[in-house]
Amino acid sequence: MPKPPEAKLCPLCGKPEAPEHAPFCGRGCKDRDLLKWLGESYRIPGPPADEQHDFGRVDSEGDAG
Ligand SMILES: [Zn+2]
Repeated sequence: MPKPPEAKLCPLCGKPEAPEHAPFCGRGCKDRDLLKWLGESYRIPGPPADEQHDFGRVDSEGDAG
């Protein structure tokens, strides 16, 4: 006899998952997971620098012709 569908839980908060947002419970957790991945990608190691010095601006005027 077939077993009833197991209620999956949201990996972030533990609530029952929503089919349209599987495997998350809703859009909130889905976005959170996405932001987490993006955050890790954009995260820069080391303390935040106060101000970065400009290493000479590149002002190359198009003078061809
Ligand atoms: Zn959730």
